[in-house]
Amino acid sequence: MLSLVSAPPFWLRDNCPCSGCRDPRNGQKLFQITELPAGLAVGSVQPATTPDGAPAHEVVWAPDGHRSVYPESWLGAHLPGTAADGGDGRGEDDKELWDAAGLAGRLPEADWADYVTDPAARATALDSVLRLGFVLLRGVPVRDRQVLDVARTFGYVRETNYGELFEVRVEADPNNLAFTGARITPHTDNPYRDPVPTLQLLHCLTNAAQGGDSGLVDGFHAASLLRAEDPGAYEVLTRVPVPFAFADARTELRAHRPLIGTDPAGRIREIRFNNRSIGTLHQPAGVLDAFYAAYRRFGELLLRPGLQLDFRLTPGDCLIFDNTRLLHARTAFAESGDRHLQGAYADIDGLASTLAVLRRKDTPA
Ligand SMILES: [Zn+2]
Repeated sequence: MLSLVSAPPFWLRDNCPCSGCRDPRNGQKLFQITELPAGLAVGSVQPATTPDGAPAHEVVWAPDGHRSVYPESWLGAHLPGTAADGGDGRGEDDKELWDAAGLAGRLPEADWADYVTDPAARATALDSVLRLGFVLLRGVPVRDRQVLDVARTFGYVRETNYGELFEVRVEADPNNLAFTGARITPHTDNPYRDPVPTLQLLHCLTNAAQGGDSGLVDGFHAASLLRAEDPGAYEVLTRVPVPFAFADARTELRAHRPLIGTDPAGRIREIRFNNRSIGTLHQPAGVLDAFYAAYRRFGELLLRPGLQLDFRLTPGDCLIFDNTRLLHARTAFAESGDRHLQGAYADIDGLASTLAVLRRKDTPA
């Protein structure tokens, strides 16, 4: 018999499914935690059934006499000790970490026509973004602003000071090195933003220049290697806040975050790495020495051969990737050559929601 009597009373009562405690139309709770009586305790427990006939247990509460009916299936899945804290889906435990060899012959990609017309193909592609950190859509129409339509297939465009979308091509007076022909080493975008854009899209319209190949590095994998090889350096990078900053004539942005963000259980959850936008750290001298040693070590690790997946975007390719996990890079290209990508930002909660609803429809009623 389930040990309802020993379950934490406030936890159990907070999950009461009755229509007095939760609005049946939307499942939202109707009471404040402060409204529950101070001496709350399970008074008695007896076998019951839910309105649709499933086995359940009824709790009569002391001191207020409230009655709660908990389905056995719910208790089996949620009572303390039955389920581990699995995290929120964003941490390293919920991901498949990779290096370049690990993805050989199984690049997560989808044909645009399938992606648009087939919900199963769309679900597989979106799942790749959550699990591996990216998906490459092929055969996307080569059309101005198409990248915004791609974002709207799973979520919402995040407009920024760069606009609804940004043009990745050589500009005469670039406010960002991305808009030159320079080599760009592995980095995450916009670490100076709070909140940071969690997804990025890059849609290739033209890539006829010499050079300009793309690369992706799994930052969670790299951080896990750092943790294994140099735990002290890893620890420093999870703790020291780094002032990231961006400024141009019309904008001034900053955010202070560690290079490696962890969740409350210590799991790797977010990477911010961008040499171009690290401002001046203000810390005791010893902390600065330790930070720079660790930062250099992590920087070297991110450039280690074998970690970076190299490929070349061709017109009609659209890359969707997790900007809190993957670092992206490109080789230098001849500024005389024609290379034009359109990029946009979006957010991963919208993508995860779209995938969850797609899967809900898959489930037989
Ligand atoms: Zn209730």
